[in-house]
Order: sequence, then structure tokens, then C-alpha cells
Amino acid sequence: EETDSDGPLTGLDPEQHAAVDAPRGPVCVLAGAGTGKTRTIVHRIARLIHSGHVSAGQVLAVTFTARAAGEMRTRLRALGVHGAQARTFHAAALRQLRYFWPRVVGGPQWDLLEGKLRVVSQAAHRAGAGTEPEVLRDLASEIEWAKASLVTPDDYPAEVARIGRQSPGPVEQVAGVYRWYEAFKAKANLLDFDDLLLHTAAALDEHALVAEEFRDRYRCFVVDEYQDVTPLQQRVLDAWLGDRDDLTVVGDANQTIYSFAGASPRPLLGFTRRFPHATVVRLERDYRSTPQVVALANRVIGAARDRPAGSRLRLVGQREPGPEPAFAEHEDETAEAAAVARRVVELIEAGTPASEIAVLYRVNAQSEAYEQALSDVDVPYLVRGGERFFNRVEVRQSMAALRTAAAGTPTGELPKVVRELLEPLGLTAEPPTGGATRERWESLLALVELAEELAAQVEGADLGLYVTELDMRARAQHPPTVEGVTLASLHAAKGLEWDAVFLVGLVEGTLPIQHADGSEAAVEEERRLLYVGVTRARRYLSLSWALARGDGRRNRRRSRFLYGLIPDGDAAARVSRARREMGGAVAATRCRVCGAALIDAVATKLGRCSGCPADLDEELLTSLKEWRARRARALKVPAYVVFTDATLVA
Ligand code: ATP
Ligand code: MG
Repeated sequence: EETDSDGPLTGLDPEQHAAVDAPRGPVCVLAGAGTGKTRTIVHRIARLIHSGHVSAGQVLAVTFTARAAGEMRTRLRALGVHGAQARTFHAAALRQLRYFWPRVVGGPQWDLLEGKLRVVSQAAHRAGAGTEPEVLRDLASEIEWAKASLVTPDDYPAEVARIGRQSPGPVEQVAGVYRWYEAFKAKANLLDFDDLLLHTAAALDEHALVAEEFRDRYRCFVVDEYQDVTPLQQRVLDAWLGDRDDLTVVGDANQTIYSFAGASPRPLLGFTRRFPHATVVRLERDYRSTPQVVALANRVIGAARDRPAGSRLRLVGQREPGPEPAFAEHEDETAEAAAVARRVVELIEAGTPASEIAVLYRVNAQSEAYEQALSDVDVPYLVRGGERFFNRVEVRQSMAALRTAAAGTPTGELPKVVRELLEPLGLTAEPPTGGATRERWESLLALVELAEELAAQVEGADLGLYVTELDMRARAQHPPTVEGVTLASLHAAKGLEWDAVFLVGLVEGTLPIQHADGSEAAVEEERRLLYVGVTRARRYLSLSWALARGDGRRNRRRSRFLYGLIPDGDAAARVSRARREMGGAVAATRCRVCGAALIDAVATKLGRCSGCPADLDEELLTSLKEWRARRARALKVPAYVVFTDATLVA
């Protein structure tokens, strides 16, 4: 889309222009999804460079995923900018630290910690905490939260009490695990990803010469997705800036989806308090999605309960109208996945490239049903954020071989070197036939293609850099495959867009996720995830859910967030039909909280509303049961027959 023929600065609206053309200094773009925030900063960087205000090497742009950083580099190259850095916070810190470390700390170089859970497990053992896999995962995320929030092990108990945070165990014990974890790492000279940021900030804060050299090198900073910055990342950003203010930030507070990990939209929303002379731009026009998708997005976020001031923007769709979003309920997950796969095939047959289609879900475990369903219809896919690629045996073997080679003498053209190293592992010149061998070959080829990509991007890229890039990707679970339908979690989909998007598994317990229940703030974050999902679609959007897991019991309810989104036609027709049949009885069977008509099986069985999370009170439940009994008599079936909406309509 950046191939505008009449120069790089076309294709911007007046507000976007204002941000692009603002003089050097603080700039803040506050705007909703699809309004061109990322496009605007890419153009701003190009503008600053082309007009001679800064050189490409002085620009440091940061974003939150390796994929987003890669896209930003691609877009910059398309605008004729070479040599500007676009990286994740971690990747930027990693480079800086490798460079500064010998002078700042000295001694042996550190290594990146791999297999974090192993170290957490040792620490948990020492601190007397449980070492079951779920416990370890919870402890690991809690430590990540604490570090991202700049909370030390000593401060942990008091901080948790102060903010009323639920700790994954007795606070003193969790603090103990955290303390041991840090001690084990330090002893083995290992750094985890948060340490990269902590040490970078410390190096700049505490070593005047390092700070001076760094600040002389980088003069212009840009942050995308600023609504999800953590205190730790903000600290690094402040260390980079020093007392300067050449900082452009863009973000959408309604897309804050990492507050569980310590992120906060406060720096975004408070930007003008910190920099009163900042240029502030608000964008409203949505260039990504059809008016139908935009309308749904506005409804999703319009229902949010805790929208901070400054985030109440309505999107105005700019594109040609498209199809209405599709809503579908299925018996179980297998049926849901099969239906999605069928629709994917139809879209591909009608001309949508597979790479323009995404299936998005709340948790990575949901990908399996879709992997199966897409394989069944022979549609290629890639799982983003899943552990698959980097867990494959051949990929692990390759990474070990590459690492060993990188440690020896870094010679020859990178792609050729990689190819030669991978040949003994099964990278033949011609693709082999047959399932497993072929899959193995495809992984190895993907590794070579990544080397080609890197060699094209970075002059003189060597094996060392390549291995670092692979490590980063392994950590970000960003596999180097290309064509195919994307399967990704909602978190991993942030900032991206596809022509067709399937949001699947929209049931209570999954979205909102079970552990969010009970905390309004957590439920609201889940709602923002749905907003992020809806706004990924350019044209075709499908929302679906299934009422049963594999065991055939209809024990799930559709997500509370769907209430009020599904076109009302249906529900209204059902209620009036029921009312005609049953006299006034149905009027009593409406949920008192949300007004949904309580006529489906799930409500009567579980005693809970199917439209919202409300429990039904006794009186309502009794009248519902009586209604069912009457209905059973009228239809001459036993009273225990469960009525679905379909039986009612039939
Ligand atoms: P998100 O909040 O999801 O990250 P965003 O605000 O960063 O969204 P972009 O990804 O920059 O939005 O832009 C969304 C889409 O709209 C892109 O395909 C982009 O090329 C297109 N777009 C943005 N601005 C314009 C414009 N002025 N004219 C035409 N297309 C535009
Ligand atoms: Mg963006």
C-alpha cells in the first residue's frame, strides 16, 4: 500500500499530515484502530530523514512485537529509508547491551537465559513453593509482572498489598521464589529479557560516558502501540531520551491488552502533562475496515465500562461497504472449526489469498482444532505465537548446529552458510515427497529463507546476528514461515490486519477468560481484546462460538460481550413467536439484568442467563421451569426434554 507512485508523502489526510509535518520535538497521536497511526509514524520518520532533520542512523523506532518491527522496516524501505532502526524494546536493548557491557560491567559476557521455567522451578523448590507446571507458569508470569512494574523482591509483598493484587501464592513465598530466581541467574551469568531492559537503563543512568555516547548516536525516538508500555520500558525510554524531548508516540488506550503484564495507558494519556508543548493529533477516520466492521467495533468498545478520558474516540469508516459481520453458533468446537475451514475454502476459491485470512482466538490451545480442520481441507496455515515451530525437533537441532557454528569462525555469504549447515539435517535441493520428511524440509527451508531475508536487510549480516535473530523469534514465538492462513492469539494479532478475520471460541470462560471473572478491570481488558480482534478485519468478519466441548454436553454459554451485538432480528422474532404461543408467560422469562429472552436450554439448565453473566433468581427460574413444563405438555414430550431455540422456532 506504500507504493504510492507520486512520492512518499501522499496518501495522508490532513490530521495525519499534521503529525507527519510537526517540527522535531514531542508528538502524540491518540487514535483508534485502523486510523493510520503506524502509517503516520513511518511517514514521519521518512519525512524527518528526507528533509535532512536527522540521519537515518539517528532514528530509533520501537514497537512491541518482532513482527510489527519487521513490518515497520519493510514500510520504511518502501519509502526509501535505509538504516533507521525499528526494533522491539528487547531487541534494541539486547544490541545496546552487547555493545556497552564490556565497558560498563566488564568480566565475561552474559548469555540469554533459555528455559526460564527450569530456573523458576529451582527457585520454587528452594523457596518451598509448589513445582507443578501450572504453578511454575504462574510464578514465572508473576516475576515478569514484578520486573516490568519495577518491583523488587524486597518490595514485592508491600506493593502487592498496596494495589490489592492477587498473588499466585503466599506473598512472602512468592517474593522468595523471585529472590532465588534472581540469585540463580546472577550466579550463572544469565540475563532474562527483562534484565536486558533493566541493565540498559542502569548503564545509561549510571555511566555518564555511555549515556553521552548513546545520546549522541540516537536523537529521534518513535514508539508505536504506546498504550501498552510498562514502567520498565518507560524507564528505558527515559534513559534513552535523557533531558531531550524528540519523541513521537502513537497509541489507542482502547487497545491496552497487556495490563495483566504491567502495561498501562497512563504514559500515553498523560503525555501532554509531561510535555505541555507537544503536538497532539487525534485521528478518527478508519481506513482499514468497511463501515460494517467499524460499526461493530464502535459497539464493542462503546459498551466498555472504564474508558479513560481521552480514549472516547468514535471511528468513522472510510471504505466501501462490505458484507455484514457473520455470527454463528455451533454444537461443539469440532463443528465450529469445520465450518470455519469450509468458509476459508470458499473465500480462497473466490480469490482471497490464504495469507489474507486469519483465525484469531483467546488462548493458543484453541489452535489445535483449527490446525486439524484446515489440514483436512488442505489449506496451508501458520501458527503465530504457538510454540510449534520452535519446538520442532529439526528446528531445535538446526538452532544448536547454527549456534555452534556461530561460535566458531562467522565466513561466507549468510544464506549459503546456513544452507550448508542445514544440509546434513535433511535440507535436500529438491523437496522430498511424503508427510513428515516434507514437513521437516519445509522448516529447514524456512530457516534458509529467513537468512536470505536478513542478508537483504542488514549489510554484512553474519551467523552471529542470524542466531540472535532466531533467539529473538523463538522467544517471541514468531516463526519464519510465510504463505498460509494465519492462526494467532488475539494478543499476537495486535497492529496487524487481514482481509478476512474469523474470531472463534467466543464463549464464557474463554473470552472473557475464566480467571478474569470477579475482577471488573480484568473483564474490561478481555473486552478490549475483542475490540482488537474485530478491528483486524478489513472486509470479512465472522464471530463464532460453540456450546459444547468435545464431550457433547451443551455446557457453555456464548460470551457476554456478544450481547447486543448479534443482530436483534432473531431474538425479537423468537420472543414474539413464543409470546404468541404462550400468552404472557414469556414476558416473565426475561433476564432482569440484560433483558435477554430466557428461552434457551442453557439458561434453564444452569440457572444462569445466556445473554449476560447474571445468575437467575429463584422466582425467575421457577417461572422458567413452569414455562418449560407447559411447553412440554403442549408438544406432548416428557418434561425432561431440553428445548433449544430451534425446538421453539420449529
Ligand atoms: P492499529 O491501531 O490497529 O495499529 P493503525 O492506526 O496503526 O491501526 P495503520 O495500520 O497505520 O493503522 O493503518 C490501517 C490501514 O489503513 C493500513 O492498511 C493503512 O495503509 C491504511 N491507511 C492509513 N491511512 C491512510 C490514508 N490516509 N489513506 C489510505 N489508506 C490509509
Ligand atoms: Mg498500528
